[in-house]
Amino acid sequence: MTNNAHLKRLVLIKPFIPRLLIGLFVMIVTVAIQLIYPKAIAHFIDTLNVQRATGWYAGFAGIMMAVLTIHTLATALRYYYFESTGLMVVAGIRNKLHNVLLKQEIGFYDRHNIGELTNRLSADVEVLQDTLTMGLAISLRSLCVCIGGVIMLLLTSPLLSVILLIFLPVSIVLGKWVGKKVRVRSKSIQECQANAGKVAHENFSNIKLVHAFNRHDKAQSSYKSSIDKALEVAKAHTRFMALFRGAFSFLTYFVLLVTLWIGATQILKGALTVGELTSFVIYAAMVATSAGAVSDFWSDWMRTIGATDRIFEIIESVEESNSPSETKEGYLQGRIEFKGVNFSYPERPEETALKDFSLIINSGEKVALIGSSGAGKSTIASLLLGFYRPQQGELLFDGESTQKLHRQYIRNSIAIVEQDPALFEGSILENIAYGANTDSVEFDDICRAAKLAYADDFIKDFPHGYETLVGERGVQLSGGQKQRITIARALLRDPKILILDEATSALDSQSEQKVQQALDNLMAGRTTLMIAHRFSTIAKADRIVVLERGQIVQQGSHEELQRESAGPYYHLMGQQSITKHTA
Ligand code: ADP
Repeated sequence: MTNNAHLKRLVLIKPFIPRLLIGLFVMIVTVAIQLIYPKAIAHFIDTLNVQRATGWYAGFAGIMMAVLTIHTLATALRYYYFESTGLMVVAGIRNKLHNVLLKQEIGFYDRHNIGELTNRLSADVEVLQDTLTMGLAISLRSLCVCIGGVIMLLLTSPLLSVILLIFLPVSIVLGKWVGKKVRVRSKSIQECQANAGKVAHENFSNIKLVHAFNRHDKAQSSYKSSIDKALEVAKAHTRFMALFRGAFSFLTYFVLLVTLWIGATQILKGALTVGELTSFVIYAAMVATSAGAVSDFWSDWMRTIGATDRIFEIIESVEESNSPSETKEGYLQGRIEFKGVNFSYPERPEETALKDFSLIINSGEKVALIGSSGAGKSTIASLLLGFYRPQQGELLFDGESTQKLHRQYIRNSIAIVEQDPALFEGSILENIAYGANTDSVEFDDICRAAKLAYADDFIKDFPHGYETLVGERGVQLSGGQKQRITIARALLRDPKILILDEATSALDSQSEQKVQQALDNLMAGRTTLMIAHRFSTIAKADRIVVLERGQIVQQGSHEELQRESAGPYYHLMGQQSITKHTA
C-alpha cells in the first residue's frame, strides 16, 4: 500500500477542514474534561476521608455540574461536526463518481456490470463515510485520551505505571494476532455459508428435476453436508474465541489485582492515597480501551482502502478517456464516410467486427443496412455515435475526420430511434423533451413533434395527457406507442443524421402502419442509416447495403439487388418472405 493511497482518501476531507477544525477543538475540550473526571473522583474520595462535614460538597457538586454542562455541549457539537462532515464527503464523492461514470466510454460499460457500478455508488462510498470521518474522529479522540491517560498515570504513580506499560503492549499485540486470525476464519465461515447457499439455490432452481427424479434424499444430504461443514468451521472459531476471551479476561483481572496489591502497599507506606489509587485504575481502563480503539481504527482504515480502491480507479480513469478535440459550434450537414475502417471490440480484440469497411452516405441519403445477426450493423451505428473509435481507417463527417471533431458536436446532429424503445421513468412530456439539444423546450414544439410522430392522439386520450407517467410507476405503453414517443423525441431533436435500429419483432398491422408513417415524417430530408429487418422499411431506402462478417458484400437499390438471383440479398429476402407479404 503506497502513501498515495492513504493520501487520496484524506484529500477528500480537504474542503471541509474549517468544519473539522471546529470539531477538533470541541473534541479536545471533551478529552480534557474526560481526563479531569478521575482526578475529581480522587479529590472527592480523599477529601471525604479528611473532612467529615458535608458543607464542602455543595461547592464541589456545583463545579462538577458546570464541567458536565460544558462536556455535554462539546460532545454534541463534536458529534454534529464530524458526522455531518462525513455525510458531506459522501455526497460529494457520490456526485463525482456518478458524473465520472456518466462520461465513461461505452466500452467501459461492456467491461462492467451495472449492478456492480450502482453498488459502488452506494455501499462502497458508505464505507468511506464510516472510516473517514467518524472512525477518524473516534480514533483521534482515543489517541488523545490514550496519550493524556498515560501522562496522568505517570503523574499519579510512576511505579504502578510500569506494570501497565508492560501489560499494554502485550495486550495490543495479542489483540492484533487474534484480529488477524478472526479475519481469516470469518472469511472461511462466509465461504462455507455461501457454498451452502449455492447448494440450496441449485436444489430450488432445479426443483422440478428433484421431484421428477425423486432425488429429495440426495438434495437433502448434499445440503446437510455443506451446512455441517459450515457449522464445524464456525464452532472451531467459537472455541478459539472462547479461549481468547477467557485468557484476556484473566490477564485483565490479574493485572488489576497486581495493581491493587502494589497500590495497597504504597498506601500503607503513605506514598499514595486511596483516591489516587482509584483514579489510577480508572485511567488505566481509559488507556486500555482507547488504545484498543486506535488499533481497531487502523484495521478498519486498511479495509476501507481495499474496499474503495475501485472507486478511485474509476474516478481517475476519466481523464484518459476524454477526447481532447476542439469544440465547434453549429451542426453537421450530414455526409458520412467510412474510409478503410477496421474495428474490433476492446473486449474481443481477436475478432474483427468491421473489416476494411468503406462506405459513403451522402447528405440526405437513406441507406438500409441488412445482414444476418452479428454481421456488424449495430457496430456501424456505435462508431457513428462515437461509442468506440476504429483501430484503423477513418470516419469522416462532412469530410472532416472524427479525430478532429468533438464528440458532443457530432452527437448534437444525430438522433437514434432504438429497436427496444427506452423510456425513462417520468412523464411523456419529459420523455419527448429528452431529445432536445437544450433544456428549455416549448410545449408547442413537443406537441408538434408528437403530432408528426402520430403520438399526439393517443397521448391526449390519457386522462393526464402529456403529464401521464410512464415506466414502472406509470402507464404501460404498447410497443407501437413507445416507438412513436421515441420518434417524437427524435423529431424534436431535428437531427441531420438519423440512426434507425428497427425492431425485429413485428407490431400488429395497424400499429405498424402508424409507426411507418411516423418514420416517414422523421426521415424526410435527413441522412438516414437504417438497421432494417422489415421489407417495408428496406423498400424506403435509396440504397441497400448488405453486410456479412463485417464487410459489404452487395449494395444497390432494391430493384438492382433483386435481379441478382445468386446474390446474398436475394437469399436474405427469400428468408423474409413472410414479412414481405404482410408488409
Ligand atoms: P449486428 O448488429 O449485425 O447483429 P453487431 O454489430 O452487433 O452485429 O456485432 C458484430 C460482431 O461484434 C459480432 O461478432 C458480435 O458478437 C460482436 N460484438 C458486438 N457487440 C460487442 C461488444 N459490446 N463487445 C464485444 N463484441 C461485440
